[in-house]
Amino acid sequence: MASELEPEVQAIDRSLLECSAEEIAGKWLQATDLTREVYQHLAHYVPQIYCRGPNPFPQKEDMLAQHVLLGPMEWYLCGEDPTFGFPKLEQANKPSHLCGRVFKVGEPTYSCRDCAVDPTCVLCMECFLGSIHRDHRYRMTTSGGGGFCDCGDIEAWKEGPYCQKHDLNTSENEEEEDPLVHLSEDVIARTYNIFAIMFRYAVEILTWEKENELPAELELEEQSDTYYCMLFNDEVHTYEQVIYTLQKAVNCTQKEAIGFATTVDRDGRRSVRYGDFQYCEQAKSVIVRNTSRQTKPLKVQVMHSSIVAHQNFGLKLLSWLGNVIGYSDGLRRILCQVGLQEGPDGESSSLVDRLMLSDSKLWKGARSMYHQLFMSSLLMDLKYKKLFAIRFAKNYERLQSDYVTDDHDREFSVADLSVQIFTVPSLARMLITEENLMTTIIKTFMDHLRHRDSQGRFQFERYTALQAFKFRRVQSLILDLKYVLISKPTEWSDELREKFLEGFDAFLELLKCMQGMDPITRQVGQHIEMEPEWEAAFTLQMKLTHVISMMQDWCALDEKVLIEAYKKCLAVLMQCHGGFTDGEQPITLNICGHSVETIRYCVSQEKVSIHLPVSRLLAGLHVLLSKSEVAYKFPELLPLSELSPPMLIEHPLRCLVLCAQVHAGMWRRNGFSLVNQIYYYHNVKCRREMFDKDIIMLQTGVSMMDPNHFLMIMLSRFELYQIFSTPDYGKRFSSEITHKDVVQQNNTLIEEMLYLIIMLVGERFSPGVGQVDATDEIKREIIHQLSIKPMAHSELVKSLPEDENKETGMEGVIEAVAHFKKPGLTGRGMYELKPECAKEFNLYFYHFSRAEQSKAEEAQRKLKRQNREDTALPPPVLPPFCPLFASLVNILQSDVLLCIMRTILQWAVEHNGYAWSESMLQRVLHLIGMALQEEKQHLENAMEEHVVTFTFTQKISKPGEAPNNSPSILAMLETLQNAPYLEVHKDMIRWILKTFNAIKKIRESSSTSPVAETEGTIMEESSRDKDKAERKRKAEIARLRREKIMAQMSEMQRHFIDENKELFQQTLELDASSSAVLDNSPVVSDKTLIALGPAKTQISEQRQFVTCILCQEEQEVKVEDSAMVLAAFVQRSTVLSKNRNKFIQDPEKYDPLFMHPDLSCGTHTGSCGHVMHAHCWQRYFDSVQAKEQRRQQRLRLHTSYDVENGEFLCPLCECLSNTVIPLLLPPRNIFNRLNFSDQPNLSQWIRTVSQQIKALQALRKAGSASDTASSKNVEKVNELQLPEGFRPDFQPKNPYSESIKEMLTTFGTATYKVGLKVHPNEEDPRVPIMCWGSCAYTIQSIERILSDEDKPLFGPLPCRLDDCLRSLTRFAAAHWTVVSLSVVQGHFGRLFASLVPNDSHEDLPCILDIDMFHLLVSLVLAFPTLQCQDFSGISLGTGDLHIFHLVTMAHIVQILLTSCTEENGMDQENPTGEEELAVLALYKTIHQYTGSALRGTPSGWHLWRTVKAGVMPFLKCSALFFHYLNGVPPPPDFQASGTNNFEHLCNYLSLPNNLICLFQENSEIMNSLIESWCRNNEVRRYLEGERDAISYPRESNKLIDLPEDYSSLINQASNFSCPKSGGDKSRAPTLCLVCGALLCSQSYCCQTELEGEDVGACTAHTYSCGSGAGIFLRVRECQVLFLAGKTKGCFYSPPYLDDYGETDQGLRRGNPLRLCRERFRKIQKLWHQHSVTEEIGHAQEANQTLVGIDWQHL
Ligand SMILES: [Zn+2]
Ligand SMILES: [Zn+2]
Ligand SMILES: [Zn+2]
Ligand SMILES: [Zn+2]
Ligand SMILES: [Zn+2]
Ligand SMILES: [Zn+2]
Ligand SMILES: [Zn+2]
Repeated sequence: MASELEPEVQAIDRSLLECSAEEIAGKWLQATDLTREVYQHLAHYVPQIYCRGPNPFPQKEDMLAQHVLLGPMEWYLCGEDPTFGFPKLEQANKPSHLCGRVFKVGEPTYSCRDCAVDPTCVLCMECFLGSIHRDHRYRMTTSGGGGFCDCGDIEAWKEGPYCQKHDLNTSENEEEEDPLVHLSEDVIARTYNIFAIMFRYAVEILTWEKENELPAELELEEQSDTYYCMLFNDEVHTYEQVIYTLQKAVNCTQKEAIGFATTVDRDGRRSVRYGDFQYCEQAKSVIVRNTSRQTKPLKVQVMHSSIVAHQNFGLKLLSWLGNVIGYSDGLRRILCQVGLQEGPDGESSSLVDRLMLSDSKLWKGARSMYHQLFMSSLLMDLKYKKLFAIRFAKNYERLQSDYVTDDHDREFSVADLSVQIFTVPSLARMLITEENLMTTIIKTFMDHLRHRDSQGRFQFERYTALQAFKFRRVQSLILDLKYVLISKPTEWSDELREKFLEGFDAFLELLKCMQGMDPITRQVGQHIEMEPEWEAAFTLQMKLTHVISMMQDWCALDEKVLIEAYKKCLAVLMQCHGGFTDGEQPITLNICGHSVETIRYCVSQEKVSIHLPVSRLLAGLHVLLSKSEVAYKFPELLPLSELSPPMLIEHPLRCLVLCAQVHAGMWRRNGFSLVNQIYYYHNVKCRREMFDKDIIMLQTGVSMMDPNHFLMIMLSRFELYQIFSTPDYGKRFSSEITHKDVVQQNNTLIEEMLYLIIMLVGERFSPGVGQVDATDEIKREIIHQLSIKPMAHSELVKSLPEDENKETGMEGVIEAVAHFKKPGLTGRGMYELKPECAKEFNLYFYHFSRAEQSKAEEAQRKLKRQNREDTALPPPVLPPFCPLFASLVNILQSDVLLCIMRTILQWAVEHNGYAWSESMLQRVLHLIGMALQEEKQHLENAMEEHVVTFTFTQKISKPGEAPNNSPSILAMLETLQNAPYLEVHKDMIRWILKTFNAIKKIRESSSTSPVAETEGTIMEESSRDKDKAERKRKAEIARLRREKIMAQMSEMQRHFIDENKELFQQTLELDASSSAVLDNSPVVSDKTLIALGPAKTQISEQRQFVTCILCQEEQEVKVEDSAMVLAAFVQRSTVLSKNRNKFIQDPEKYDPLFMHPDLSCGTHTGSCGHVMHAHCWQRYFDSVQAKEQRRQQRLRLHTSYDVENGEFLCPLCECLSNTVIPLLLPPRNIFNRLNFSDQPNLSQWIRTVSQQIKALQALRKAGSASDTASSKNVEKVNELQLPEGFRPDFQPKNPYSESIKEMLTTFGTATYKVGLKVHPNEEDPRVPIMCWGSCAYTIQSIERILSDEDKPLFGPLPCRLDDCLRSLTRFAAAHWTVVSLSVVQGHFGRLFASLVPNDSHEDLPCILDIDMFHLLVSLVLAFPTLQCQDFSGISLGTGDLHIFHLVTMAHIVQILLTSCTEENGMDQENPTGEEELAVLALYKTIHQYTGSALRGTPSGWHLWRTVKAGVMPFLKCSALFFHYLNGVPPPPDFQASGTNNFEHLCNYLSLPNNLICLFQENSEIMNSLIESWCRNNEVRRYLEGERDAISYPRESNKLIDLPEDYSSLINQASNFSCPKSGGDKSRAPTLCLVCGALLCSQSYCCQTELEGEDVGACTAHTYSCGSGAGIFLRVRECQVLFLAGKTKGCFYSPPYLDDYGETDQGLRRGNPLRLCRERFRKIQKLWHQHSVTEEIGHAQEANQTLVGIDWQHL
């Protein structure tokens, strides 16, 4: 750092470092005017330390400031060396029991749902884990920053306020002890002095507004002439705008501009230029000019550098104060005292006041700094918290106004501290009574909403953008009001009553401004031109919903308050309705001899509003009167006589009629805004204080008036009065065919009206209306939701209203009404309704939407049919009304309703087309059912001798009166029972008649009450009908079942591929491969099956037929025929990697010949197993390409596959593919020649092969030495001594058809291109190596999966895998036929030389650095190029066997060298087994060859065990390899797991069971080979500990271990800061599940350049960690992220579930989440199977929006 400074600056530093803190403090102690002394010191030194250049040097500044400025203060404060002084203070301190930890952004916080007083009470993780709440129901969220832990605050918790750490020692519990007693007088005095000066200094300088001049006390005579151009943050301009502007204004690079912008955004300001005034001014004007076009310009100031210096130190000082008070509660108290001490200017002049009042003028960084200081001082001291709360309340109006006009987010405003103060119950109560806080908040709120209409109501319609912005900010005041009300008082004082009621008054004023706002008029003729604004009003309503409910809750707690509130509310309602009956003459309505007067009003013609909060509040209070029984206890105190029922019902009724008319289509021309309003009116977010209360208000009104009168008024408002008051209206109506629309409309209105009557009588589940409690209400909601369908917990929560604590009360009752069904590997846990609850189902439940109602009806009828019950859905038995509402039931037996019902039944009986509807009839039947249930209840519950006045049965038995003389309702029902057109309602009518009879019986048995006349016939009729009905019902059931099955079948066909994708794939795979004859079908049942070598079991090759999925033609797989291919996907892989830091640096020069045993970069090939003709595929791919080109021209859209990279989707299963593999017969059989001679043993064979290689090398050397002289060449060759029978000039004939050859090249090139990430080049000598490598790697990865899952090696492998491995192996074996022979021979030579040293190859890796399986595969597959020119009679099989034995031995040596390190101390007896003795001997040999560098001799038992375990994976891979290569079926033992496979494996592979025998049999050559291997320098280095080596068996890679509890991940992520922007918190911390790295994703700061493009941290990480593919967990979102390449990605459901079996993507619900191991294993399996890319492909095909996401920026 020092080197970057100019020399001059360094000199200053030196002089500064010579300052002595002790001396300065000493001087201060002597000073008479301490303030002046300190200020002079600061004036002199601060500008020397801070702001010495264009860029800050925070470390240096901090160091110097500590030394020169803060050090003296600490000395002064302590009176001694602070390194001793502070610890002393700390020891003497008795720490507070408050935790007070201030949360960082993203830190997890916990709230106990059982014990927290309100949801804002939270604990930090540490406190939570040490508290009793960890076993309670809790919620977990991530903090947005700010706020602190409430542990230890006894007011925040109903129980367990302390965690173990903060638990107080009860004996010392003296709450109000003064913390100053722990400090000495001296310390108190000095602290007071220094705090007073420094705090004042900080406040003064931070709130200083002049740009060019310091406070007089800080002014220096000589001043430098340097300035800063300071750029401030605002929330108007975007990041991009700021970056662009800066590049222009100060000529910086984009990177620098990003840096500036990031700091401005974080700290609130940053100097962007340093120099003289002119220079800075110039930059300022450019910035202002550039940003002032559309908006107000960015704030820029040219500030003198010394001001900036002092301000920077001011900030430092605040954080210093925060640290110092951490040592002692006494110091903290002194600071509070200093801060709140009133200044010279009286009221509001304390330092704390001054800071708060200039909050909106400060920049972000300064604000958060002092807010934090407030939190750690004022809010942590119980005494001063109260005083601070009062200051805060006194300044409340001003602070809020500042906030509303400011543009920063609320978290950066001091107004946000309200949550810390108002939610403390005792403070809230105090502020209400002493500072009249409720009234203040409401008034402040109203002051900001000045826009009113002529009636004084809010008007949002013509809001400007600025007003809308203000409106959004002002809503936070409602939140404050909610905080104040959230904890309800347990005791009421007179002051509290008084102030609460005063606040209630203010609140009523607010509601009054809402009553009737946004009125609407029905649009006739033309459609409205512009959708009117409606959202603002609803936002207000929604935000106020909880406040309104809480107001009622408060009122409910005190009878006096309730009575007063009721009176006030009624008075305001009457004010609102003044002039309600003015104007027009009243009209008189008459039906059935009843008559009533009402006003003339038509909803469809006049103004109507949905907003009636005053009426609704009164309804709420009225219910409370009933619930609390105040209505009966103090009737004389209530203004009940003033109530005018018609007035009460008028507006709610209009609102409900409006809904009905909208539903009837009468308001279509009013557009969507009305539809939306109606929707929200009923929606779960609003209905509690809207729709529900309107129903209650109507119930209130009806219970106080004659039901006949009510019904007539209702008919009139529904505009249906004419229809029902004119007896033959219906008849006349039906003849007027021309008015079809009007008839329809009226039908709907009648239906709606009947529905309303059903609701008024049936909705008695609000406590106070009916005799129920709150749990009955919630139970009923749940029952009705689950009647629609089984639901997940979160779905159910969403459908229930939440209270202000975000609780639905559901947990308490759900067990009683539902069963929980756990989730499987996918899907969610579900709640199902208990069958016994079905009887409580009410088809006309008032919270059903229309869609829900019909779904529920269908579901319930289906259930009944399944239970073989009749399908009637009669109304449930209801709880009785509370006395205040009891008279409501009389609607059911009122004359007008009976008349309405009779009329409708009459229409149905006459059945004349469209004058009536089935729903209408259904509702009438329901109403009749309700009345019958009611009467039955009355009879059953009636006391002896008590006269039941509810006589519905009697009334419906009577025929209608003159003039129409209609039959009785009962008679009409009987008629309808046989009506063929009412089949669906028969069950219900039968139920009604049955119930009617039952009631009659009760009446008969109990008394001599009048008997209906027609009963006899009913009985007969109904029993006669019974048989017929039963038969019919059964027929119906059968028909429905048939229909259902048919429907299901066609549905299934339609969705088959979508929903049963996996199943579908499997069946198709079965189809595809059943046509292919598997060559491991038991042809040979001999037990001694041998896979390779001269003794290989001979198989008669089966002919293989396959069907092309494109043309459906069948073809045999033949050598000379056209090629058949499998769709395949080649990808690079690090799944098996043991070294994730390694990747291919320079692909053009990379030599892949030898695979390192760390398997760091493999090439994997997968296939969906679908077969096509090569030419069919070619045609398909061409068309995909052409289509893509056309599409790209039209619109540049991404697809889930990248055609330019050769990608396509399998035409059958849409699996992502990028090449094809040809299907081949076992290639060895084609090249095998008959062998006559004896086969050589290993030594002989090695010698022969070595000679052949040497000859080839010599030939090649000769060839390259003299290319031109070809004749000479020939001579030279002749001179060479060729081994016997070796003919290097022989070129074998390629047996394959052109088409197959082409496909061999295609797939080979694809492997090369993808594996090395290079441009395709089929001539490159590395192509064959990549093919062998992919074959070896794929086999290894499958062997791993099988072992990990404990599956047998040759068990039932999925067909697609089996097909893929077979084709891949055979392809790799045949590939040499399309490459230059000499290239492959060259490879073979080098490969061979790695085991059998050869002079001309010296740069080869030592055996520690070779993966032996890759070596085996390469050698075996390259060998034919040598063998084909060898006519000495050595067979391919012999070569294979010798290669295999040689490599196996090398592997054993490799294992002995690397893997015998651990011996688990078990003293084994002397080795007895043959193997143990042999391996011990071998070990000794190696020991000898390594120059005894190998550690001493372990036991033979241990060695043998190690060798066996280490070599096992290799043997298994080899078995798979030779099986697929040669087609010899595996012995049946392999197909079952668990058996001791070792011997079978050895037999199958033609190995001795004692592997060490191989060495003994070939000791002649092996000893020299072992020696050459061990003498290698690398081996020596390894044994001497200078390097590492892989040991065997290699362990499988696993995804990282995830914690059980999700919150520990959140915690881990919250401690993670962006690695690039110095300690900043990362916004989207993302965890790599492969290696555990935490990354700063989705953010500018961590973008890096990759192949010329800017990519986010995750994409960049995938390139190193997963060679392009990655599996991540986005910690804040709780979401798994799959990435592949730059353009592909998808989200996947996380392996964390809550107790209800649901994931919480986005962490919105906050239920505790636990790791689901099965789901995590599933993700790991996807990874192991290399299926991540495939999964992304399927997800993107299913959801096109995923394609558009810029995955590379994550
Ligand atoms: Zn805590
Ligand atoms: Zn604690
Ligand atoms: Zn608890
Ligand atoms: Zn075909
Ligand atoms: Zn496929
Ligand atoms: Zn990683
Ligand atoms: Zn970052």
